[in-house]
Amino acid sequence: MNERSVDELRALHADFSAQYDALVARGLKLDLTRGKPSAEQLDLSGGLLSLPGEGQFRDQAGTDLRNYGGPLGLPELRSIFAGPLRVPVAQLLALGNSSLNLMHDVIVQALLHGVPDGVRPWSREDTVTFLAPVPGYDRHFSICERYGIRMIAVPMTEEGPDPEVVRSLLATDPTIKGMWCVPVYSNPSGVVYSERIVRELVSAPAAPDFRLFWDNAYAVHHLTDARPEPLDVLALAAEAGHPNRPLVFASTSKVTYPGSGVAFFGSSPANIDWIVRNMSVQTIGPDKINQLRHVQLLRDEAGVEAHMAHHRAILEPKFNAVDAIFRERLAPFGAGSWTAPAGGYFVSLDVADGCARRAVALAGQAGIAVTPAGATFPYGDDPRDRNIRIAPTFPALEELGTALGGFSTAVLLAETEALLA
Ligand code: PLP
Repeated sequence: MNERSVDELRALHADFSAQYDALVARGLKLDLTRGKPSAEQLDLSGGLLSLPGEGQFRDQAGTDLRNYGGPLGLPELRSIFAGPLRVPVAQLLALGNSSLNLMHDVIVQALLHGVPDGVRPWSREDTVTFLAPVPGYDRHFSICERYGIRMIAVPMTEEGPDPEVVRSLLATDPTIKGMWCVPVYSNPSGVVYSERIVRELVSAPAAPDFRLFWDNAYAVHHLTDARPEPLDVLALAAEAGHPNRPLVFASTSKVTYPGSGVAFFGSSPANIDWIVRNMSVQTIGPDKINQLRHVQLLRDEAGVEAHMAHHRAILEPKFNAVDAIFRERLAPFGAGSWTAPAGGYFVSLDVADGCARRAVALAGQAGIAVTPAGATFPYGDDPRDRNIRIAPTFPALEELGTALGGFSTAVLLAETEALLA
């Protein structure tokens, strides 16, 4: 766009303004913010609503699951997810319905009690710092903000967080106690960490109680046949001499039901002992009936894969639509660059520097809700004001097309306005 003459830009601006006025006149009410499954996807797990069924309340060992107990979760369910998550069953816990809840609680426990290898609770440090690869997941950042944990943004590369930046920060700043990582189909970029990057992250010299918050939310959420080989972060960390560094989180929120799924925690034996000890004062055991329901629905690893193939059939056309519409509407003007993820839930769009807030505001005024610009950065502060997270899963395909077309008009108008300013 910025190679055009002022006259050309003025003509384009007039054109985009007219398109935008027509868009506003349509009085749309559409939403591109919701990173959640559509009702059609939720229907795939409809069986859960009638499982486990009357009289079905025992696990394979014959334990009555209606009662208290079983703090580690149902062994059958843990063994289904041990493979995809690459965590040995003995070191994988099946817990409540939310992995975010677990991440929050682990941070609070680390603040109050410290973690294995630590010399004191994190709250007794003058400063606690987390590394935050950007663009990233706003709810990770919210936990840090809530508890006064300082965040340092780390740029993402195509194979994960920039390892040189991470290594040099860890080597020079002992206040760094944690790092957010979404290793597979990152939110929102879709980046999959390479083995090289994972080896860097587990081996870089750091504080002894430094922890990788390994949020493997999208491990089985493929959109293509090109499956990344799941990496065994726990084994790689043990090999590198830091067995307690990774804390693995995952859930079935986007496999079955986000409101009634099952969350998992995996780590070294020392960290598992630590979390089990902390949880024993918090709960007398998770919802094992819900876990039994999940075992009955998903059955085994192949069952999870078959189930996720149905999700893919619904989601692939939506992700293709994002790419096709941006190619048609933005690419001819050199506007925007966006990811075409091979899995996960989001597309990350970069518009021209300084234009993201304006584009989102224009879209909002035309009745198209888009995730606030800046949300993908710590403190909501995108220094280049350019990144926007697109969530294509929830709207129906037709509605998605209308919303993306309208949003593209907003981006084009914002970019021409900025060039003429
Ligand atoms: N982690 C990431 C990277 C996510 O994108 C999300 C939801 O969007 C979550 C965690 C939430 O997980 P849960 O539903 O298990 O709390």
